Amino acid sequence: MDHKKIKELISSYYDKELDEEKRKTVEKHLEECQECRKEFEEMGKFEEVMSKMELKKPPEDVWKLYWASVYNRLERRIGWILLSIGAMIILFFGGYKMVEGIIQDPSTPFLLKAGILIFLGGIVVLLVSLIREQFFVRKRERYKEVEK
Ligand SMILES: [Zn+2]
Repeated sequence: MDHKKIKELISSYYDKELDEEKRKTVEKHLEECQECRKEFEEMGKFEEVMSKMELKKPPEDVWKLYWASVYNRLERRIGWILLSIGAMIILFFGGYKMVEGIIQDPSTPFLLKAGILIFLGGIVVLLVSLIREQFFVRKRERYKEVEK
């Protein structure tokens, strides 16, 4: 193979576009020919500089995007957690005070007391299950993102 042909192949060699056979031809010729080796090394320096330039810019943007998404997720998560805690406190405290008043009132029929307790118990169970579902869905969403 002549030098001109090899020089043409060198750039493809760096782009990893050559098949096994052509790559071996280039490597064999480079061992034997100083002129083409020089060309090859200069091309190497050029490719190195290019790849460094390419590498330098994107990570900054990638990191910015990454932290923005982390922050968004964290913000929503904290919001949800605060909301849950607040709802729990209101429910337990408010419920307890209300129930306390009704239950301690001797004129309230026993069946109504039992009904209120069962009703509040149901709300608590539903709320807990809702919260667990929310966190479960969130976890699965995160796994989906990893799969992408
Ligand atoms: Zn040559």
